[in-house]
Amino acid sequence: MPPPVFRFAPSPNGYLHLGHAYSALLNHDLARRAGGRLLLRIEDIDTTRCRLEFETAIVQDLAWLGLEWETPVRRQSEHLDVYRDAIEKLAAQGLVYPSFESRAEIAGLVAQREADGAWPRDPDGAPLYPGTAKLLSPGERGRLIETGAPYALRLDMAAAHARAGDLNWTEQGQGPDGETGAVTAQPQVWGDVILARKETPTSYHLSVVIDDALQGVTEVVRGQDLFWSTSVHRLLQKLLDLREPAYRHHRLVRDAAGAKLSKSTNATGLRELRAQGATPADIRRLVGLP
Ligand code: GLU
Repeated sequence: MPPPVFRFAPSPNGYLHLGHAYSALLNHDLARRAGGRLLLRIEDIDTTRCRLEFETAIVQDLAWLGLEWETPVRRQSEHLDVYRDAIEKLAAQGLVYPSFESRAEIAGLVAQREADGAWPRDPDGAPLYPGTAKLLSPGERGRLIETGAPYALRLDMAAAHARAGDLNWTEQGQGPDGETGAVTAQPQVWGDVILARKETPTSYHLSVVIDDALQGVTEVVRGQDLFWSTSVHRLLQKLLDLREPAYRHHRLVRDAAGAKLSKSTNATGLRELRAQGATPADIRRLVGLP
């Protein structure tokens, strides 16, 4: 049996905090215990928010924590062609359509629907896209693209779900409501998710499943906030014929007031804690690892 492959996949849009430290150390400990491999992947597709300065800091902080990972490190921004190919495969199955509305226009469309009654929201609390652009004719789509209008490429969720059939995944950790074991994927609760944008030919969902497969990742260990995203990941794996890893979603580290950590709270930033004299052993203790 080849050794299991783990990965820690931060986005360099800020400095690491205790929540990242917990996730990274947990991946490291599980890989060690299983005689497995540990990869670091830099998820830097959002060029408006990701910065090289944060990437450098992330690498320094992880090394300070005592982590070792394989090189070369995969940086998603260097593989946009791979993601573009995957979009084409999905488009060839008739599962992708462009939508041209701005965020404000979508908010307006949702408000109209909400005025008529409840409108569904996704597990992150965002209202589902109302599907208006799905009704455009091929001619109208072509004309809008020719005008140079910005667009997002969306997955036609109903068609994708029908094609893939019912799916589940193996959860070795726990979901927010204690879900574990064989979990039924519910990708439809996300609606017609964005797979790519005109200027960025990928999205979190798409690049994460492609990279996990390309890098031979067998164990995805990440925060519970991504638990229900796994539904979309399973769907894309099925549609793109990619191997399915096992999943372990872990508890989230909270601050003293019980709130989820964000990149802007200095009190729990690794750099700040280090500057105040904390050692890597202190960090392990703070996040509740032996
Ligand atoms: N890049 C994601 C984040 O920083 C994590 C992706 C994953 O582990 O699937 O939240």
